[in-house]
Amino acid sequence: MKFAFLKVCAALSLAAAALPSTFVAAQQGDPAQRQFAREVFQQLVEINTTDSVGNITTAAEAMRKRLLDAGFPAADMQVLGPNDRKKNLVVRYRGAGQKKPILIICHLDVVEARAEDWTTDPFKFVEKDGFYYGRGTQDMKVDDAIMVVNFIRLWKEGYKPNRDIILALTADEEGGHSNGVNWLLQNHRELVDADFVLNPDSGGINISNGKALLVAVEATEKVYADYQLTVTNPGGHSSLPRPDNAIYHLVDSLGRLQAYTFPFELNPVTRTYFQILSQRTTGEVSADMKAILAATPDPAAIKRLSADPLYNSTMRTTCVATRLNAGHANNALPQTAQAIVNCRIFPGHSPEQIRQQLSSVFADPKVSVKYMNDAGETFATAPDRTVIVPPPPRAEVFDPLTRIAAEIWPGAPVVPTMETGASDSIYTAAVGIPSYGFSAIALESDDMRAHGRDERVPINSYYQGVEFYYRYLKALSSTQ
Ligand SMILES: [Zn+2]
Repeated sequence: MKFAFLKVCAALSLAAAALPSTFVAAQQGDPAQRQFAREVFQQLVEINTTDSVGNITTAAEAMRKRLLDAGFPAADMQVLGPNDRKKNLVVRYRGAGQKKPILIICHLDVVEARAEDWTTDPFKFVEKDGFYYGRGTQDMKVDDAIMVVNFIRLWKEGYKPNRDIILALTADEEGGHSNGVNWLLQNHRELVDADFVLNPDSGGINISNGKALLVAVEATEKVYADYQLTVTNPGGHSSLPRPDNAIYHLVDSLGRLQAYTFPFELNPVTRTYFQILSQRTTGEVSADMKAILAATPDPAAIKRLSADPLYNSTMRTTCVATRLNAGHANNALPQTAQAIVNCRIFPGHSPEQIRQQLSSVFADPKVSVKYMNDAGETFATAPDRTVIVPPPPRAEVFDPLTRIAAEIWPGAPVVPTMETGASDSIYTAAVGIPSYGFSAIALESDDMRAHGRDERVPINSYYQGVEFYYRYLKALSSTQ
């Protein structure tokens, strides 16, 4: 998962001031550091970590060796997981223990890449036209590399943090059945327990013609849930239709879902998000954002903003029909009709609550609504697990981020966002660890290639990202 905030940026560009890039060569580190950073990135991209034929353990071991060679104690590194191909690396940079640790989670796996669709070999690290190309250059080996490079740079400087910083490089965020973050939380909580989580798999800097417009930081995310609707019927010969028909029941229910809108909601994160956006947009959009923030939100403003899919999804739970399957013969009354409804649940509600809500929207006892898990198994009831309503964005996290972002991307506001998709932060947030998503990678809004062909990252964006996290990790673990 990566960068779902983008649509906002098109609206923002209208109001964005023209800001000169003040990025200077000194921020990019010395040539030896640059070369080292490049090598680590290249190595990660060239280790295939797809679910089909790749190997996460190979990448985890390669990074462990890098850290070991730099002097990290073997005892502070673990390579572990549920099977040989899907092992995670957990490394603990020991600090003075003045505060609870910080945990950084970065997935090592990448989505599949069909070589015939690409103009370069997806598993070769290619430098071309000011970009690095290769699968994972956006999502998210770029961030894996940034973290490993900075752990090593800080260690070699003799830097001693005031608290432990834990880095977990993990399996199966994009797919597969061995999600590393979930597995570590379930089986080795002590290795990854933390005060808060940084997950660079979301957020990022949006640039337009090289100018930074917006620094997005994910401060919460919605919950993914699938529901299976089923209607059964004795069926019969289609020459003798009856009013009671499985397909009609199903379609009528889906029609009611289409007409239904979940209630408008805000939380401290989305409130801050719309506050900042209302100041950076113009005209009716800006006025509508102010109107939904009022003590009594204006329903007309909510309706207008809801026409934009991103704003709509940021203001409420959404559920949408995504698959249909019905009938067994052209000349038979259908015995079964099924649909999948995919929901993105606003934090504070459980999948079971939404299942019950769907049942009441369908208002048809003939329609059964079951919860479907990632493995495709169905259950009569859904989990009661509720993602916590996020607290207001934490100053300890946002203040240094804002300060350092202003040094590297001056003039671009830091905006906390609610991710409408899903990342591994769902697991850490579910066990009560506040989780923030910030990839320090600057991308043009029309150059999002995560999961796509010819994935690439601007070379400068990579070294800026390295520099950002060098300063940020220090700030988070020093004077505060
Ligand atoms: Zn990702």
